Amino acid sequence: MPANPHTAPSPQAHQAENRAIEALYADVVRRNRGETEFHQAVHEVLETLAPVLARRPELADARIVERVCEPERQLMFRVPWTDDAGAIHVNRGFRVEFSSALGPYKGGLRFHPSVDLGIVKFLGFEQIFKNALTGLSIGGGKGGSDFDPKGRSDAEIMRFCQSFMTELYRHIGEHTDVPAGDIGVGGREIGYLFGQYKRITNRHESGVLTGKGLGWGGARVRTEATGYGCVLFTEEMLRARGESLDGCRVVVSGSGNVAVYAIEKAQQLGATVLTCSDSSGYVVDEKGIDLDLLKEVKEVRRGRIAEYAELRGAHVRFVAAGAEGSSVWSVPCDVALPCATQNELTETDAVALVRGGVKAVAEGANMPTTPEAVRVFQEAGVAFGPGKAANAGGVATSALEMQQNASRDSWTFARTEERLAGIMRHIHESCATTAERYGRPGNYVVGANIAGFELVADAMLAQGLV
Ligand code: NDP
Repeated sequence: MPANPHTAPSPQAHQAENRAIEALYADVVRRNRGETEFHQAVHEVLETLAPVLARRPELADARIVERVCEPERQLMFRVPWTDDAGAIHVNRGFRVEFSSALGPYKGGLRFHPSVDLGIVKFLGFEQIFKNALTGLSIGGGKGGSDFDPKGRSDAEIMRFCQSFMTELYRHIGEHTDVPAGDIGVGGREIGYLFGQYKRITNRHESGVLTGKGLGWGGARVRTEATGYGCVLFTEEMLRARGESLDGCRVVVSGSGNVAVYAIEKAQQLGATVLTCSDSSGYVVDEKGIDLDLLKEVKEVRRGRIAEYAELRGAHVRFVAAGAEGSSVWSVPCDVALPCATQNELTETDAVALVRGGVKAVAEGANMPTTPEAVRVFQEAGVAFGPGKAANAGGVATSALEMQQNASRDSWTFARTEERLAGIMRHIHESCATTAERYGRPGNYVVGANIAGFELVADAMLAQGLV
């Protein structure tokens, strides 16, 4: 008989579970050597789970935590390709199929030189709980390659994508594993990957990839969804404190897919967005980011952020990466949205943000805030929305794309955006009520981890030892 989740466990039960979790984490580190980002992601979830295991011993008995930390399947493969000069390159491809407890594996592909197994596993692990939080039937997975798309021609990108898919195709499928984009993988790459999948399999299986073009199976709002969702989640956190984004000064990092549409939605809700960045530096635009110009520079020309500063005018400050005071987080603001990459917001940055008066921080990127920085925000009473919850709008809209593909239907922008807003409200609500149920009101990290974990754990229990 499962324990009543509303009954508080004894302090002894808590201590025993804490010890068990520490041992389990030590085991994860031992068995996945050198995968530091994966260790960090696992630690961040495990350190919040002791109260759940203390209340629900049947989850410990079934070794749910051990099982969820071990991917169901990990694939690594060679990706050979030729550049425009005819020179041969060899990259490594990855797909980690982490959990199918709730549905087909679902998660993006990242093309970036920093990609290795540990990065893909951290992203895949996060994805399990994020996908659960959406309330839609999707499992967790992630993939990518250490290929660097920067400076490559369209033809080179196409040849790389075709080679990558020539191996990946045998592992994916609309009912098995459904990849999407991430850093370095946008609409162009999804197009080349889909074309090759179709050619090899002789199937127009729209639901095998999401993030497709609107004319060939893509969903409206998918491009905007992660950034929009992150801002909608922020608005919910502020609303819970009787505030709103209207009139707020917002600092955003990154200038890719997530950042651009976070800026767009924040502006629509009445905020002034002061910054954006890329790996070469950041810009501060006190008049508010000119979104049309930013899209022209980053999406059309595929240029660098310094070009935005040059074209926008003398009032804009460009600060090169590595320069003194080169953190975008040194700019005082009410709301901070890290939308670039993992571990980009450190303890020092968090202290600067708190000093500058920040009220809310929401992670558009995956794990952009270091654990030390998260603690600074929580101790200062800043509303902190972890990526699992705050950036789940992208994958949720991918699931809506799969739904439209399955029914050969295409929804309007307004209908899809309404669904996205409803999903983000639902995620906020379930994080907030779960945190409260476990005696940690306002702690969205605890709420997101436990709410996501319980959904996955219950499905695993029901499905037996697989
Ligand atoms: P993009 O490739 O579109 O943009 C990434 C942005 O982050 C670029 O501005 C890039 O600058 C910057 N960046 C990347 N790596 C670094 C680095 N090491 N240092 C400094 N800046 C860096 O990716 P997305 O916008 O899609 O993804 C951004 C984040 O959001 C990632 O963490 C991703 O996992 C997460 N995410 C994305 C989702 C999506 O739907 N796209 C869904 C959920 C989460 P530069 O061009 O100079 O490299």
